[in-house]
Formats: sequence, C-alpha cells, structure tokens
Amino acid sequence: MAKSTTWSVPVTKALRANGTKVKKFDTSATPGFKGDKKAGEKLLAQRAVVLSDLQERLYANGRSGDQRSVLLVLQGMDTAGKGGIVRHVIGSVDPQGVDHAAFGVPTEIERKHHYLWRIRKALPRPGQIGVFDRSHYEDVLVVRVHELVPPEVWDKRYDEINKFERKVVDSGTTIVKVAMFVSLDEQKKRLMQRLERTDKYWKFNPADIDERAHWPAYQEAYQAVLDRTNTEYAPWHLLPADHKWYSRLAVTELLIDALQGLKLEWPPANFDIEEQKRRLLKS
Ligand code: ADP
Repeated sequence: MAKSTTWSVPVTKALRANGTKVKKFDTSATPGFKGDKKAGEKLLAQRAVVLSDLQERLYANGRSGDQRSVLLVLQGMDTAGKGGIVRHVIGSVDPQGVDHAAFGVPTEIERKHHYLWRIRKALPRPGQIGVFDRSHYEDVLVVRVHELVPPEVWDKRYDEINKFERKVVDSGTTIVKVAMFVSLDEQKKRLMQRLERTDKYWKFNPADIDERAHWPAYQEAYQAVLDRTNTEYAPWHLLPADHKWYSRLAVTELLIDALQGLKLEWPPANFDIEEQKRRLLKS
C-alpha cells in the first residue's frame, strides 16, 4: 500500500481476520484510519485514480499474455453495502476490465450442478478484476442457516472451498475476500430508508425482514466461515460497514494492495517503435 498519512495501520493488517469474534465485532469502527468522513471521502477520490491506473496495467498485461487476475469476493447480509462497493469502488475503473458476477438463489439449471459450477464459470479472465457480489460462501451461509441441505453436506464444503480457492490462486488469481458487517440497528435504518424513499423501493424485499430473525444463526455461520476458510493464500478481511465512506475507502485500498503485489509494469512494445513511427509519418 502506498504511504498515506491518514492510515495508522495498513488496511490489510487492520482488517485481516485473526481470531475475530463476529458477535463482538464493532461494525461502526474505522480500523486503521485516522481521519473522519470528510478526510475519507477526499482520500477515496485520490485513491480511485491509483486503482484505475493499476487496473489498466493489469488489463494491458492480460492483453499481452499475462495470465494473472484479481478476484474480489464480497459477502455480507442484506444492506451491508455490497452494491455500493460495486458502484463506487469498482465503478471507478474501466468497465472493460471488470468481470462482475452476482449470485442469487440458484436457477433451476444451476441447481442441477455442483454448487461450484456457476462459480467456476464466473471466475475472472486473465487481466480482469473479477467481482463476486455474494459467492460460493452462500452455500455455507444461507444454505446452513436454512438447512437447505443436511449438515453433513454443508460441513464438507469448507474444506472443498479451501481446495477450490487453492487451485484458483495457483492458476494466477489473487483472491481478496471481504466480509461486510453492519449492526442489526443499522440494517433496520437502511431497510426503513428503502420503505421511505421512492428511489429505494426497488431494493426492498419483504423477505429481508424475515431474515433478521435469523441474525444469530447468520453470525454463527459467518464465524464458521472465518474459522474454517481463513487461509494464508486467500485470507478473510472483516469490514465494519456501518460507515459507507469507510467501507468504500477500505476496499479501494485492499484492491490497490492486491494489484501492487503483482508488480505490474506496462507491457513493452512487441514491434519496432522507430520503424512504426517512420511508417506512420509516411502514411
Ligand atoms: P441481493 O439481495 O444481494 O440484492 P438477490 O435478491 O438477487 O440479490 O439474491 C440474493 C439472495 O439469494 C439472498 O437471499 C441469498 O441468500 C440468496 N442466495 C444466494 N446464493 C444462494 C444459494 N447458493 N442458495 C440459496 N440461496 C442463495
């Protein structure tokens, strides 16, 4: 991560899951960041430019045969702000370089396949930033909470997911996993907004209110995810998401960190520059 006077701890370190207890997690904190909302928003505007430059390098290298990519996995309860990350963070880079996939209730066709089938199909292509708005983790979250398959089935999935992610990483994809958490109160506020604003009705789903009754079960399911799938090759980051400005800034920094880790240079010209200039001048 580039040096910044407003981060006291690098964001990767501040958010890295490390025995964190979901039930005790402070969703209104702004770990590692010293400034307020105004400073956060100002910094976000600057860092979006850095992210965009790095993404273009990734894309350029992908066009030149580099097989690497980056995959952002976003998990979080309804209203946690996953859509806001897609719009405000991913929205700051060239859409050509983004492979976006949102995973809802599996379709009839998807249900006929292994749960990783639709995930594999959506993995980012070389040079792309992939974004999963929900992911294979739904198959150990909603599926576990609502007992959509028996416990012996979902219980095997944690190891399977670890193996799957190992392969994805080995094939050249840097995985950035982010679990976003809002408080139950903050969720209530955000759902109320959806009921009070004409521009938000479309986001409201009556079932979201029913899901609130399962909050403790979701917390347990998230805890199991963190305890069992926080590998060194694909670690989890826990993102307090009550403050939207913070979550957007933090995810921007996580992506910048991942892209900087790839040490991307601009691909060299695969033609004779002088010769092409001469040809162009003559044309
Ligand atoms: P969102 O609520 O994120 O805007 P959608 O309404 O399209 O998006 O779908 C999300 C819903 O799909 C969530 O309730 C989620 O739990 C559910 N879902 C996602 N994956 C699965 C799965 N594998 N099995 C069952 N339900 C799933």
